[in-house]
Amino acid sequence: MRWSFCIGTVRGTRILVHFTLVLFIAWLAMAFYAQGGSQAALRGVAFILLLFACVALHEFGHILTARRFGIATPDVVLLPIGGMARLEQMPQAPREELLIALAGPAVSLALALVFGMLAGDGPGSLDSPQSDTPGLLAQLAAANLFLAIFNLLPAFPMDGGRVLRAVLSARLGHARGTRIAAVAGQALAILFGFAGLMLGHAILVLVALFIFLAAGAEAGVARLVDVTTGMTAGDLMTTDFVTLGPEARIADAAQLLTRTDQREFPIVEANGHLLGVLTREGVIAALGRGGEDWQAGRAAERELASLSPDADAAAGIQLLQQGAPAVPVLDPDGGLLGLLTWDNLRDHLLVAEARRKPLAPAVTGRRATN
Ligand SMILES: [Zn+2]
Repeated sequence: MRWSFCIGTVRGTRILVHFTLVLFIAWLAMAFYAQGGSQAALRGVAFILLLFACVALHEFGHILTARRFGIATPDVVLLPIGGMARLEQMPQAPREELLIALAGPAVSLALALVFGMLAGDGPGSLDSPQSDTPGLLAQLAAANLFLAIFNLLPAFPMDGGRVLRAVLSARLGHARGTRIAAVAGQALAILFGFAGLMLGHAILVLVALFIFLAAGAEAGVARLVDVTTGMTAGDLMTTDFVTLGPEARIADAAQLLTRTDQREFPIVEANGHLLGVLTREGVIAALGRGGEDWQAGRAAERELASLSPDADAAAGIQLLQQGAPAVPVLDPDGGLLGLLTWDNLRDHLLVAEARRKPLAPAVTGRRATN
């Protein structure tokens, strides 16, 4: 993830801290200092650091459970709004998703109990009022209890939304389950936003906005998976695009970028093999470093996962969701057949929804009559 740095690796999962979290902690430290001097600032920062350590442990609940189901977990990012563990694939079976989703809140709940007990019988909770350790522990217990309960709200993008989706998709199928959990998320976000405005609570409004957008993104992907059920990468790929040779200049790519709607340019060798994909960001970054005359291949992304034309459409959607700029569709010899991009999938979705039917006629056992 951009704007983040690694603070360590635990069992192969890199722990990343986002730059905004550092800013957030610095801001809190100053706010505490302004209120109660250096003592208050130290205590406030200690609490926040411990709290984010708890958030990381919550994420490792998800990560270690996902590992048990053979899912790779390359990293986890800590942001001011919480942690995000990245799973290389989504769990296939609803039961796996259920257990992975529950593991995080279970860790938070366990931490709440441990901190609660430590705060309760910590020595000197009464006889040394100067020491604020029991107070700090009680606060951590409360915060972890809040984390567990908040994350169990049955709405996307909270863990509870995944629990709800897992339970629903066992009966209604993945797409409908996701849609219901996403709508629940947006409804909850509207409630939060309203409450935040009524109470004059800016942070609550921000949280509501984040939940609304995240739930909307999940719903969009669910609709896409829904309308592309039974289709292959070959059915969905765009085939009409400009390619560049490895020797093309960045300046040529920049010209194409401004003269066409295309944003991803496949770099194809003379023998038809795909070398990589030059993205709009790649072109801009190269120009920013004075790379007008660089060869396009130098700025291209080379290690992109590709698909065969008969691969499931869902596999392509998943690769894009994981941040691939485009998914090349290759023939068995490595020749480029087409590309899957968000733009192209979004168009498929719009077309299918305007027609109000799935892209591929589903076998329903009932003939459509007009
Ligand atoms: Zn969680």
